[in-house]
Amino acid sequence: MKSVLVVGAHPDDETMLTGGILALLSSHGVGVHILCATRGEGGEMGDPPVCERSELGAVREQELYCAAEQLGATSVYILDYVDPLVGPGEELYPFEADFDTLVGEIRRVIHQVEAEVVLAHGTDGEYGHPAHQLVHEAAKAAVEQEGGEVLFYSFAAKVPGIDDHIWNDSNPAHLAVDIGPWLDAKAEAARCHVSQHGLFKRHHPGETFHQLVRGTEAVHRHIPPVEAGSPRDAFSDLLLAAGAWIPEFL
Ligand SMILES: [Zn+2]
Repeated sequence: MKSVLVVGAHPDDETMLTGGILALLSSHGVGVHILCATRGEGGEMGDPPVCERSELGAVREQELYCAAEQLGATSVYILDYVDPLVGPGEELYPFEADFDTLVGEIRRVIHQVEAEVVLAHGTDGEYGHPAHQLVHEAAKAAVEQEGGEVLFYSFAAKVPGIDDHIWNDSNPAHLAVDIGPWLDAKAEAARCHVSQHGLFKRHHPGETFHQLVRGTEAVHRHIPPVEAGSPRDAFSDLLLAAGAWIPEFL
């Protein structure tokens, strides 16, 4: 296993949804490449604000580079889609994209980094975020078009027995990881996303960065589909060797 491409909609998704697994992979010598569709320019600006609205994209781009370094990532790719403003009442919107163009851009990065695995948002966009759902669909289509050479996994898969609003109910976890050994890296990556600290603290319990990042992460394999039991491939073998466990659904 040499190369994994993680595809997210906004800076911070890589950290908050799968940062422990990314740190695990990089600590095992796997090239971790981060592709982010937007600069998160429609998101929160911090409490108190860290910049003007017009500067937020540039600020969050730097926050993403900071987090990528903490997670041991090899490269970061940012597409030029524009994240729309969050609506009044916290309504969330997708970014505007021509779907086939977006799929083509993801495929170009798959080729560039020679990705063996694409790891992206889940079917439900975690908590129903339409931009996350759009990225899921585009990443899945990109892997389908690769025609069998690349595995497609999603993060934030549902782990039985742990209540969390970010789990994708449609994606039962095939593998779960207690990320204790990589929690320091994940907490430091969360610390990089300064503009989002107010949001993190509202949505996650805990005072310290170690408390507010999740200690359990999980993945679901979409391509090829898992017929029964757990997936067996180079990615799942690596996670299992690093202490991953197979959740039991009753
Ligand atoms: Zn996001």
